Amino acid sequence: MTAHVPAELPPFGPGRHLLSVQQFDRESLHRLFDLADLVRPIAQRKSICTVLDGAVLGSLFFEPSTRTRLSFESAFLRLGGEVTTTTGFTFSSMAKGESIADTSRVVSGYSDALVVRHPDEGSVAEFAAASVVPVINAGDGAGEHPSQALLDFYTLRSELERRDKAVDGCTIAIVGDLKYGRTVHSLMKLLSLAEGVTFRMFSPPSLELPPEIAQYARARGHRVFDTDSVPDALTGADVVYATRVQRERMTEEVLANANVSGNLVNRQILAEAGASEIIIMHPLPRDSRLDSFDLSSDVDQLPGLSIFRQTDNGVLIRMAIFLTALGCSPDAVKATTKQRPWDATLRWP
Ligand code: ASP
Repeated sequence: MTAHVPAELPPFGPGRHLLSVQQFDRESLHRLFDLADLVRPIAQRKSICTVLDGAVLGSLFFEPSTRTRLSFESAFLRLGGEVTTTTGFTFSSMAKGESIADTSRVVSGYSDALVVRHPDEGSVAEFAAASVVPVINAGDGAGEHPSQALLDFYTLRSELERRDKAVDGCTIAIVGDLKYGRTVHSLMKLLSLAEGVTFRMFSPPSLELPPEIAQYARARGHRVFDTDSVPDALTGADVVYATRVQRERMTEEVLANANVSGNLVNRQILAEAGASEIIIMHPLPRDSRLDSFDLSSDVDQLPGLSIFRQTDNGVLIRMAIFLTALGCSPDAVKATTKQRPWDATLRWP
């Protein structure tokens, strides 16, 4: 899975593309999280910021998306920028045979940053190679989804802190489609920046974790265990990270082999494993159709459910990504932030 990421990606910073979580080290990760903390009141609409006044985002989504596209776009808008957007192949000139390189060069000439989602692994790196502005990978096929991993790590850290624990030394059960679930690949690599993490993996047959991802974590001193069932994966876990079966990425044959039906994680499975209090995470969307083999909505009243804190945090993290790529310092943010002049009913706690 890592083969399509250029080997020598520079650290993420001003004027740089964000293609992989491998562009972070521990220090730059925490710097990004500090920026996310700083912009929380802006994300919550308690104050308004114009630091990106005049900047234009080109948002190119060639694959279905709800929260990733809208949270990237609202992040840019909340910082005072403007957004232009195109979704799907049908309404873009790619339907006329235009190459990724041509599309990217053209659109980057209209924008100050691009956010790109595309169904082919490695394709966002191709966009980056032809772009004259920073390109943010919003998901390239089964490859990577760096902004999701960043918000997952950020959320996991705060959920664990509320329980007087830390990401260092935690145990995480990652269950579901581990092969095509790009969020798992990015998250395991990013969590490898922590120390002494134990990963307990469960997937149906044919949907196993690519060996190079386990190898990546093990090479950095973490423990990765394959388990036979969700209850087995939950043994000793602080958190369960459940993922959707990525049906759109697999052949009928692979899907038939995987033999997926029923629920992946539900209230009863958690209760039987003694894990009713566990932190529950999911990148979303969860597949709520009958027998979809996903996280059941019967867990929604459990105290550890963190899936909507993940989505809320997605805005902060994506704001921090733009601030970094466009070279805005914390001081520049503070200097361009003021109290909102209108009265709003705040929805956030
Ligand atoms: N939203 C996530 C992604 O784009 C997870 C999913 O689609 O299952 O990868």
